[in-house]
Amino acid sequence: MALAKRTFDVVVVGAGGAGMRAALSLSEAGLKVAVLSKVFPTRSHTVAAQGGIAASLGNVNEDNWHWHMYDTVKGSDYLGDQDAIEFMCRAAPEVVYELEHFGMPFDRLDSGKIYQRPFGGHMQDYGKNPVPRACAAADRTGHALLHTLYQQNVRANTNFFVEWMALDLIRDQDGDVLGVVAMEIETSEVMILQARATLFATGGAGRIFSASTNAYINTGDGLGMAARAGIPLEDMEFFQFHPTGVHGSGVLITEGVRGEGGYLVNKDGERFMPRYAPTAKDLASRDVVARAMATEIKEGRGCGPHGDHVMLKLDHLGDEVIRHRLPGIRDIALKFAHVDPSKAPIPVVPTAHYMMGGIPTNYHGQVVAPHGTAPEDVVQGFYAVGECACVSVHGANRLGCNSLLDLIVFGRSAARQIIEDLKNNPNPKPLPADAADRPLARLARLDNQKNGERVAEVGDAMRRTMQAHCGVFRFPDLMAEGVQKIREVAERVRVTEIKDKSKVFNTARVEALELDNLIEVAQATMTAAEARKESRGAHAREDFPERDDKNWLKHSLYYSEGHRLDYKPVRLKPLTVESFPLKARVY
Ligand code: FAD
Repeated sequence: MALAKRTFDVVVVGAGGAGMRAALSLSEAGLKVAVLSKVFPTRSHTVAAQGGIAASLGNVNEDNWHWHMYDTVKGSDYLGDQDAIEFMCRAAPEVVYELEHFGMPFDRLDSGKIYQRPFGGHMQDYGKNPVPRACAAADRTGHALLHTLYQQNVRANTNFFVEWMALDLIRDQDGDVLGVVAMEIETSEVMILQARATLFATGGAGRIFSASTNAYINTGDGLGMAARAGIPLEDMEFFQFHPTGVHGSGVLITEGVRGEGGYLVNKDGERFMPRYAPTAKDLASRDVVARAMATEIKEGRGCGPHGDHVMLKLDHLGDEVIRHRLPGIRDIALKFAHVDPSKAPIPVVPTAHYMMGGIPTNYHGQVVAPHGTAPEDVVQGFYAVGECACVSVHGANRLGCNSLLDLIVFGRSAARQIIEDLKNNPNPKPLPADAADRPLARLARLDNQKNGERVAEVGDAMRRTMQAHCGVFRFPDLMAEGVQKIREVAERVRVTEIKDKSKVFNTARVEALELDNLIEVAQATMTAAEARKESRGAHAREDFPERDDKNWLKHSLYYSEGHRLDYKPVRLKPLTVESFPLKARVY
């Protein structure tokens, strides 16, 4: 089948913070850049980020990048790569000032400087006291960020393909990446987008769980495409559960609420976090707070008729502070929990939130995967940034506000690397004859499938399996069973059917294609979790409750084919400073 083809210097898949930050530098460098997005760019999930972006500006209290680096290494439970963490924390103030100059409307202190609030795990003087490090635009920081970057991209003449879905990577026999095959959602038109560089910035995959803070579009498409193209996925066992999702709906209540002075209470009205984290209390890192909440609930101190949640109290902050600093949270509490937070506490429960793992990259955004040809195993022509990538700066647990930072720092550095790489690579390589075979076969299967199950039913089975078998606390028998169950669900995904084709809009096809990606992520997460026999960061096993640096200080690599796992060492050596030695993690 002859497909339409368009050729660009760079194809960026994803118009969230990461994709748009990269695209901006690429377009400004005079390259011809296409940015694909399933939704209008400013509806990408970055828009939902609430609390802030971390940078040691020191606008409220003394701060510096080395303390930020220490907190990030500790927060990662020592699984983060210290070279990438140094790179990110050092660059943080510069990239935030850059955003300010792009026109991002940060809140201001009386001095006129950028407003900063405390956030979980961000401390002064190597872990001593919480420090205000989150640069915030009220509780709508992602909204401000995304609109700023979109406007700058329009100015820089970036080409947007809005409501286009990338289906699969094009890789040639050398393993080089030459672009993507994509489909326009409204018309089903399939096209080849050929490029000398392909950058994935497709965001997270929170939709593998039933209770998630993530939007419905967060379906791990980049990871699915990479896995089908033979690229491994790194550290997939580490999935962050955010402590404060609204009970019943999962909508996020930012940690910024606790940064402004809110705190958690159990059914007895007890502020319980000081028992678990005497110094940082409610601002300990997320894995610690989520486990404390789960323990309170498990031990019978949960709230409500079923004792299945705890309360987030912020009425003592006063109506004025809540309306000024946390207006979005006030709206969410009113709409989703039916409480006015200046009068009553908000019912909250830990909710699946952020994927620490992803497509393996270095801090230049180059995808690094063993395939035995290119120097240092860099996959030529392929780059990944943002939540879909694993640099790894978040290791086993991400600190709040370090994701927006990761998007901007590595979006910019990947663009710089691409600009350099393309100087040595002026012409596109020829496309292989079978460039579009795999995605066309997937589409044909969906069009012709008879007697299959509905996509929604199979998707629900996947989400329920992940929720029950791979949650905040992980049990050996449940995980072993989970691996079996998720493989069975994967078999069902192969025969899903779009029922009533004449009556449903093309979104039904998109949901089926997304399920192909979700199931790759779910299998990687379940398989890697079952295999890691220790507790570290967000991965808390009942049978191996301690961190085991002797055997498990290593990154996992999951290969879709054969569900094979491999491991590689953590990069403990930073770029210019001494390594932070391994320590027990106490807050
Ligand atoms: P996204 O912003 O999710 O963008 C992904 C893009 O990829 C979209 O444009 C989408 O359309 C596109 N895409 C995906 N698949 C395809 C495909 N197949 N074809 C074409 N396009 C595709 N982090 C912080 O640091 N601070 C915070 O305060 C904060 N608050 C948060 C609040 C919430 C509710 C949530 C859920 C997360 C929060 N995070 C926060 C985390 C952070 O917002 C995300 O990790 C980050 O925004 C992800 O950005 P991204 O650019 O990687 O992806």
